Amino acid sequence: MKIFEKSFTQQEAIPEEGINAAVAVMRTGRLHRYNTLEGEKSETDLLELEFADYLGVPYCLACSSGGYALHVAMRAAGVNAGDKVLCNAFTLAPVPGAIHNSGAVPVLVDVADDYCIDLDDLAARAEESGARFLMLSHMRGHIADMDRVMAICARYDLFLIEDCAHTMGASWNGQKSGTFGDIACFSAQTYKHVNSGEGGFLTCRHPEVMARAIMHSGSYMLFEKHFAAPAKEVFEQIRFETPNYSGRMDNLRAAILRPQIAGLDAQCQRWNRRYSILEKQLSRCSAISIPVRPDAERYVGSSIQFSLPGFNAEQVLEVIKRCADSNVVLKWFGDEDPKDYTSRYDSWRYIEAMPTLPNTELILSTLLDMRIPLTFSEDDCEQIALIIDEAVMASCR
Ligand SMILES: *Cc1c(COP(=O)(O)O)cnc(C)c1O
Repeated sequence: MKIFEKSFTQQEAIPEEGINAAVAVMRTGRLHRYNTLEGEKSETDLLELEFADYLGVPYCLACSSGGYALHVAMRAAGVNAGDKVLCNAFTLAPVPGAIHNSGAVPVLVDVADDYCIDLDDLAARAEESGARFLMLSHMRGHIADMDRVMAICARYDLFLIEDCAHTMGASWNGQKSGTFGDIACFSAQTYKHVNSGEGGFLTCRHPEVMARAIMHSGSYMLFEKHFAAPAKEVFEQIRFETPNYSGRMDNLRAAILRPQIAGLDAQCQRWNRRYSILEKQLSRCSAISIPVRPDAERYVGSSIQFSLPGFNAEQVLEVIKRCADSNVVLKWFGDEDPKDYTSRYDSWRYIEAMPTLPNTELILSTLLDMRIPLTFSEDDCEQIALIIDEAVMASCR
């Protein structure tokens, strides 16, 4: 039996430049983002400016996590208790969690065969629910047809929040993911595309919305110290009306992140070389199905998903077990019992009026997921593909 030797949770080291910058911050003792000298920009300020510049948007707020960014995005967008928020049924728990945190009610939308949100179902649920907000997860990096998404948003007057936790560095038709919506949220948590342990970004082009997000993040009355932010006049009323939900970024993490933003595109290419090896090899296996990705989508292959059409739960578990025996870690989004980072929508039992989504359940029932850490070489990816292929063929009946 082949045994894969590396760990699926081992990241690359923080760039030396980031380590040095972090040490320099520690030597000053000024870790708090607002602890600046007159006219000085903190590491957090610079990070926000650099990320706004990377995306080509005017405003950026760095904060404590991706989930926090999602929560604050909804508050800043004006979501009120009891409001309905459309969101993918196929996503990760922090997404419905952030909706719940804002007092709103998630309206779950089916997944399509390409693992993206089902756009027909989105239009139908927008129509029937009367929801005014869409929290769109580009789940596992799969970008739905953004032209159609934007047409649906225009038709139903939906405020679009993009959850770009898996699409930092990706684009659709040459336009960066995160620049389509009214707000976009990103994560800098260890398993995403940049790594500061925890961390997140919220970007936006609406001055009032951004002013509210900055106030929510815990800026006290120091909002004038922000640079990737609207003019101080915009805060005139907003500073009195917006509660402080403390969740700032600190200079230590910002220092670690800045060189990673600078190197992001190069990292994305490294991910995609690994992804394409896996995709090519796995597609050759007759029992494995991988949706063909549209030309317009420039994804970041930091993980790979594939389906085993016709496999029952027992067979899927057998594939996972065989791979695990070879040290290859697959996650299953169809598991009745939520495990590790994955969970199926019906395990979020706090959602009132939980719908049944037979199509989502069908698709998730054979959908497997694998992380592609950059500590894996291209040869490692060849080896992993062989292990998966053998495990799948051995579990066919
Ligand atoms: C990780 C993740 C988040 C939340 O990010 P954190 O920084 O871990 O809070 C949100 N959405 C998706 C799809 C994610 O994978």
